[in-house]
Parts: sequence; C-alpha cells; structure tokens
Amino acid sequence: MAAIQVGLTGNIGSGKTTAGRLFETIGVPVYYADDHAKRLLNEPDVASHIRTLFGDECIGANGLPDRKALAKKVFANTRLLQKLNELIHPLVRVDFQRWAAYQTDHPYVIMEAAILFETKRAKQFYKNILVTAPEELRIQRVCARDGVAARDVRKRMQHQIPEEKKVQMADFVINNDGKEPLIPQVESIHQRISALINKSV
Ligand code: ATP
Repeated sequence: MAAIQVGLTGNIGSGKTTAGRLFETIGVPVYYADDHAKRLLNEPDVASHIRTLFGDECIGANGLPDRKALAKKVFANTRLLQKLNELIHPLVRVDFQRWAAYQTDHPYVIMEAAILFETKRAKQFYKNILVTAPEELRIQRVCARDGVAARDVRKRMQHQIPEEKKVQMADFVINNDGKEPLIPQVESIHQRISALINKSV
C-alpha cells in the first residue's frame, strides 16, 4: 500500500532539514523538496525554460542554471519568484509522488519543504508538522551556515507567512529554539502520527 504523506515545514533557518534527519534516524523516509528542486533545475528541458523566462544571465558557463544569479533575480521581484515556483513546483510534486509510490514498507513518508502553507500544498498532506525558532536565531543560523548577510536572509523571509500564523495552520509543532531538545519532540510526533494511522486502518 502507498505510504501516507506528511508535510514538514518551517520558515528559513528554523531547522526543517535537521528535524527531517531525525525522522530518518527513526526509519521514516524523508523527501527534501529543495534538494530535488535543485536536481530538477539541471534537467535540460528545465534549463532551457529558465533561459527563456529569466534570461541568459541566469545560465552559467556550463550551460546549467546559475542558482545564485537566479536567486538574486527572483528574490528581488515577487512576480519572477512566482514564475519560478510555477515552473518548479509541479515538477517536484510529480517527482515526490513517484518517490513516495516506492516507499511501500513504511506507514508514512515525509516531504520537507519551505513553502507548504504559502503554496497551499499543505492541504495535500495527511498531517503537517511545523518547525519553529525565534527569528533572530533563525537569521544567525542561516548566516553561519551559508555565509550570507543578515539583510539577505531578512529579504527572503519577507516572502514567507509569519511563523505565528503557521502555528495555527499546523497539526504538530516542533520547537527548535536551541533550548528544548529535538529528539523527544520528534519521537513524540512520530508516535502520535503512527497511532493515528493505526486507528484509521
Ligand atoms: P533552510 O530554510 O534555509 O533550508 P532549515 O529550516 O532546513 O533551513 P536547517 O538547515 O536544518 O534549517 O538549520 C539551519 C542551520 O542551523 C543549520 O546549520 C543547522 O545545523 C543549524 N541548527 C538547526 N537546529 C539547530 C539546533 N537545535 N542547535 C544548533 N544548530 C542548529
């Protein structure tokens, strides 16, 4: 039987990937949407669409999309960001479904993605998990991880629904404030989701 699908999200630097890795350690398969989007971006058809939509300056010397140039362009223009999302999200959705169809030995799988609530994709999932952390901590973490300036992180944050609103939309919340340990929270959510699935079959 195809596995039930659960969403895992959170704003920039909240710790979605970190939480995803912890779910993996307890045997839950996790699809990291961002990683797959990067891979799909390099497919020849997609690269040629990028050139048409965003111009030669977004294509690197190797003929593949230059993600830095692309990010600079789309994060400065909401309409272009929307265009890029409209190109990539359907591809990721299909790729995820194909991947999920193979995970027949698991009661549920997780898709980790930054913008599930913004794109209304959250509705497609059985349950949604949100990772939260204070804004300043999130900025510090991304600056340290990516070596980028705080103002660039803030610019990207503007495109996301504020965390306090997402808390109301999520079924489960993981507090990643650096004080509350993550592992017990992940284990507890895993047990609750597993119990819900067992009850419904
Ligand atoms: P993005 O939205 O940018 O993809 P993300 O939500 O997936 O980020 P992570 O990449 O998991 O967030 O975490 C951001 C950075 O903060 C990483 O370098 C990670 O190692 C670090 N980090 C996450 N959680 C913690 C924690 N509880 N304690 C210390 N460092 C943490």
